[in-house]
Amino acid sequence: MKRAIYPGSFDPITFGHLDIITRASKLCDELIVGVLNNKQKNPLFSIDERVSMIKELTENLDNVRVECFEGLLVDFAKEKDAQVIIRGLRAVTDFENEIQLAHANRVQYPQLETIFMTTSLKYAYLSSTVVKEFASYGGDISLFVPAQVIPLIEAKINNKEK
Ligand code: ADP
Repeated sequence: MKRAIYPGSFDPITFGHLDIITRASKLCDELIVGVLNNKQKNPLFSIDERVSMIKELTENLDNVRVECFEGLLVDFAKEKDAQVIIRGLRAVTDFENEIQLAHANRVQYPQLETIFMTTSLKYAYLSSTVVKEFASYGGDISLFVPAQVIPLIEAKINNKEK
């Protein structure tokens, strides 16, 4: 049983994330989307909101589960008995940070392999930050996130501005 974890903040989930989830789910028996509850960051969406959005958008993928975690990824991987970490790469800027993290995780837990998946070209520019930036200026985000997520983002941003 090959169990992989795809960790991230997913604040909010984008088409780029969904593309990696769909492709990664074909490479393993079970894929856990690990939503990081990072107390240092000030997320737009609560952890429960992020988890429920991703659950809804991945319900057609039978071997995908969505869970939140806190603390170290290696501890979460041990707890879930996962052997693989999936990360997405968009550009060299991602690479520098990612390779450091992968090395650090391997030092901590040598049995855990990190696998990098290259972004689909059409999502190479896309990040949660870009989505929030465009949404905050009333831009069209329909090419960035699924339709059902758009009103949730707009409501959050309008609320913040009040
Ligand atoms: P971000 O805020 O950059 O979207 P996340 O922590 O939510 O960051 O990302 C989780 C993982 O998904 C990371 O490995 C990140 O590199 C990857 N990822 C994010 N957006 C894309 C994309 N458009 N294409 C491929 N991978 C992506």
